Amino acid sequence: MIMAGPKKVLLVFLASDSGVDGARSLFEEQSKNPAAAWMNRNIGNLIKRTQFAIPPLALLILASTEVDGVEQTICDLRFEELPLGESWNLIGISVQTGMAAEAFRLADLLREKGFRVVLGGAHVTLFPESCAMHADVLVQGEADDIWKRVLMDLRSNTLKPIYAPEGYPDLTLRRPLKTGMLRKQRYFTTNIVQTGRGCPFSCDFCNVHILNGNRYRKRSIDHVVEEVRRLGSLDKRIFFFVDDSINANEEYAQALFKRLVPLNITWFGQATTTLGRQPRLLETFARSGCKALLVGIESIEPSSRDRHNKTQNRSTELAESIVAIRKAGISLYGSFIYGLDGDTLATPSAILDFVKTTQLDVPGINILRPNPGTTVFERLREENRLLFDPEDISAYRYTFGQKMLYKPKLITLPDFIDSYSKLTAKLFTVRNAFKRGLTAPSVKPAVMFFNLFYAHLYSLSRHDLKKQLEPS
Ligand code: SF4
Repeated sequence: MIMAGPKKVLLVFLASDSGVDGARSLFEEQSKNPAAAWMNRNIGNLIKRTQFAIPPLALLILASTEVDGVEQTICDLRFEELPLGESWNLIGISVQTGMAAEAFRLADLLREKGFRVVLGGAHVTLFPESCAMHADVLVQGEADDIWKRVLMDLRSNTLKPIYAPEGYPDLTLRRPLKTGMLRKQRYFTTNIVQTGRGCPFSCDFCNVHILNGNRYRKRSIDHVVEEVRRLGSLDKRIFFFVDDSINANEEYAQALFKRLVPLNITWFGQATTTLGRQPRLLETFARSGCKALLVGIESIEPSSRDRHNKTQNRSTELAESIVAIRKAGISLYGSFIYGLDGDTLATPSAILDFVKTTQLDVPGINILRPNPGTTVFERLREENRLLFDPEDISAYRYTFGQKMLYKPKLITLPDFIDSYSKLTAKLFTVRNAFKRGLTAPSVKPAVMFFNLFYAHLYSLSRHDLKKQLEPS
């Protein structure tokens, strides 16, 4: 359809149907009990509202790209309906593997209605062939530079079917993030900042190093400081640094966060536990307003760490690091994966001991999700340990521990589900939630609420996992 005036682009972010974006059982029978259904719906809505929902950064980066004659709008389906009554010249959907089936369903529907659809994101970067039939245009790789070309080609009606990257974008260029288009109150904060991309490690269950490269690429410190100052003047709430490992480059992080000290912000981020052995940086983080960090512990079993190539910290150092970080006044969310290849039925009690000794503020006990494109997926497929059709992309939608997708190596499936359920039932009680809230070194209410939400989420997980063992 040809329209006069500016070209209009809609960028769509999908809502996940499990985990914190959509806490509900995967089985319908729960909804037959009206009380349980009411409870789940309300807790789900509460989680959605108070959850630590942040704006979709990738779409914000695209929407901040300015091309004369093109207007861009973000639609976050976690909070709003698709505005299909309007005339869009192009609709973009960001595709993550866990949501690929839903993204394709939506893309097909939109194309049937006559809209042109562009797909991008991690899944498109890794599997362009399987995405091509659902889109008019594909964008592969980090799209910071490519998106400008797409918008210019849209304006001149010369869109190509595929835009592939020529290397990674230069992150040292100034690209100011514009958050003005967001409805701020929907989000926990709109102050989201990324200081770099890439990861020098190669954990086999992760695809960050595959998608963003094995070299850490940094933004200019001046640009980050300027962005923090500008965003902070628009939204007084907390900052969230979305980098996977904010301490990966110690020298850079030290220089950056020293510059942020006078800005008096408070911030959350994600780090590796090696931070506990970087005392100078730890002190700078604390002084610059760091209140909480998510750290990937993954496994405390040395053999599991070896088998999954999680090499950046020795297990013996983990506990000491966590104690040191908490001592600096920073609360910690520690993310574990139970069921890795070196784990046995003795692992849950080791995790319980570890959480108790370190006084970890929020433990997250994940189940391995062998995503296509990762090394572990290929290995499990070769070893015939996948519990689903490897070609079935709808299998990856369980963002939370609600379904086992593979056979553990050293534990039978029933034993695994039983031990995982017992572990989460012991860790996530209302009593523990209050206790962890009270003992947290900072953000005590957030720590307590997160633990309470987890008490609910893990009860859904136990319910659903048990169902997996029932004969179908
Ligand atoms: S899990 Fe973390 S450390 Fe390991 S490859 Fe992924 S981003 Fe890097």
